[in-house]
Amino acid sequence: MAKAESYKSTCSYCGVGCGIIVKKDKKGKIKVEGDPDYPVNRGMLCSKGMNLHYVVADKSDRLLYPKMRWGKNHPLERVGWDMAMERASAVFKSIIHKYGPDSVAFYVSGQCLTEEYYLVNKLCKGYLKTNNIDTNSRLCMSSAVMGYIQTLGEDCVPVSYEDIDHADCFLVAGANPAWCHPILWRRIEKQKERYPDTKIIVVDPRETDSCAVADLHLQVLPGTDEMLYHAIGRCLIEQGDIDSEFVRNHTDGFEAYSEKVMQVSLEEMSEQCGVPVEDIKKAAGWIGESGGFLTLWAMGLNQSASGVNQNLALIALNLITGQIGKPGAGPFSLTGQPNAMGGREVGGMATLLAAHRKLNSEEDRKEIAAYWGVDEIASRPGKTATQLFEGIEAGEIKAVWIICTNPLVSMPEATKVEEALKKARFVVVQDISSANAAIPYADLVLPAAGWGEKEGTMTNSERRISYLNQFIQAPGEALPDGEILMKFANKMGFPGFDYRESAEIFQEHAQLTKGSHIDISRLDYGYLKEKGSVQWPFLSKEEGGTVRLFTDNTFYTPNGRAQILAGGPTHEKEKTGEDYPLILTTGRIRDQWHTMTRTGKVNKLNKHIPDPFLEIHPLDARSRGIEDGDTVVVKGKRGEVRVHAKVTDKIRSGVVFLPMHWGKILNNDFARTNNLTGNAIDPVSKQPDFKYSAVQAALY
Ligand code: SF4
Repeated sequence: MAKAESYKSTCSYCGVGCGIIVKKDKKGKIKVEGDPDYPVNRGMLCSKGMNLHYVVADKSDRLLYPKMRWGKNHPLERVGWDMAMERASAVFKSIIHKYGPDSVAFYVSGQCLTEEYYLVNKLCKGYLKTNNIDTNSRLCMSSAVMGYIQTLGEDCVPVSYEDIDHADCFLVAGANPAWCHPILWRRIEKQKERYPDTKIIVVDPRETDSCAVADLHLQVLPGTDEMLYHAIGRCLIEQGDIDSEFVRNHTDGFEAYSEKVMQVSLEEMSEQCGVPVEDIKKAAGWIGESGGFLTLWAMGLNQSASGVNQNLALIALNLITGQIGKPGAGPFSLTGQPNAMGGREVGGMATLLAAHRKLNSEEDRKEIAAYWGVDEIASRPGKTATQLFEGIEAGEIKAVWIICTNPLVSMPEATKVEEALKKARFVVVQDISSANAAIPYADLVLPAAGWGEKEGTMTNSERRISYLNQFIQAPGEALPDGEILMKFANKMGFPGFDYRESAEIFQEHAQLTKGSHIDISRLDYGYLKEKGSVQWPFLSKEEGGTVRLFTDNTFYTPNGRAQILAGGPTHEKEKTGEDYPLILTTGRIRDQWHTMTRTGKVNKLNKHIPDPFLEIHPLDARSRGIEDGDTVVVKGKRGEVRVHAKVTDKIRSGVVFLPMHWGKILNNDFARTNNLTGNAIDPVSKQPDFKYSAVQAALY
């Protein structure tokens, strides 16, 4: 009998990135515990993290062998890896030969390990010669990325969780961390317990559990956040609560910003965003008095057709008050996925290059091409998530390879994505779970290894890179995603994919960061295994990582000054009216993760909220004859959803909420929230809007 063992890892769900100790008994049974020594969670785990061992143990839905269909009307049949890769490479070669490199695309995930992300980008951008590689991080963080780039000069979160312990005023915008980032929220609650004068302001159209400890809930109208933050900015200026010295010495753009926020009266702004003037003033007063002001935000701001503007307006509050680069202060975007940031470090999107190099810079493209040993990297930007599926629908993209994500549930206007996959010549789905809704449209299904079945690294919301151990063998013939990509690259005849272990991939990525703002060139697996994790940039083994950026008030912009930006034109929202009078917003619930392929397997987690529901205000319910628990049909221009009504005054009248997790359940096409969302995207970040769709609700 084997001996008991213990391994360190990181939770594979949200961007908080909690440290986990995996204990394996003599019979191989797994138990997980929070790592008491890990700086992020200090031994705590939320409901999702503490049930990870059930997901590891339950193999009932796992894909075990490669499967292939010989023609569109043929069934999927088991094949060997060699045959699967032979077919994939033959089809990709033939399509690229006939239609050019941009006729193929990869759509991957913020749940991939950094090494896998690096490989798939090198494969696409370096060897397949297409930048058509995007990821579900586009649905998650791309507006924050552009917000940081435009204001601070680079995609970088300047703060750390440690800053929570130094802050005395929190503005939590478009996020429900009590449910979606629970361990981080616990730290904020503790700060409030320790220092009861600490102010917590929550901005959300819904009164979520995060409001329970809030001193002020600003129940903003969906899509008007920019207006609200401009109103707060205006009050700060009028109160004389800006840091004039910081603004003068370290920023540009204050005058234009000031002009913009003064254009509309406070009363008018209040009316537009639905937040009373006195509450706006109260928030501004607390921010103005604060010694450490942290703004925290998530999908409520990012998943919007005005996502970048909303980010700029929020970050401006930190800049005009000089609340950045010092303990307890700064803008802090909360990553939804466990490795959305790691993916960006290796250029894991259609508009990025590895090591934060720029795709639109010839010099950067040449540098990366030389590093990878290829003649060039195409200058054409790749198609972003929604464009990619539109490209398939339009017949421009013939083959798509989907890795570790479930777009038929998670993408907006999911019925259109389904149509696109029906039309595609060749669809590869690489996943751990047979519950991936794209599998019925796949020509090739590849079984991947899951959490604990492979090693690698991830980066959490605070730039913390952690090493994840392998502690169990993948079932059947499932392989780590990196190994699958290498098999494919080798079949394609590409050199440069002969890594013996993932440490070599990490080293190649790390060396590429040398001299950049995300420099980890002195970091290796050995150090990560010993220390558990480190925050980039990593200075040296002696000095370690970096807790806080911009402590010298020098920013990564060309002139070293932060940019206070008033934002571009506001994107026109979908019109509500007689047919569709309600605004639909979507989001997460506490115990489920994404499309439930993992958390949906855990009975304990399903008990919290077992069924999809529509949150609706009593006034809106009453006028439609809807009572709590009734089955309702929610209709929009693009489709409909049928769920139970949850009548509550915790949501604004005129706004309804659906959780994002449920897809087609029990062959019921009508549980999929994304039947209703549309393809409106932010013009700069290309992030889709999941927070504003016009709908109607009625008794079913
Ligand atoms: Fe996992 Fe996030 Fe929960 Fe931590 S807070 S245990 S990372 S899901």
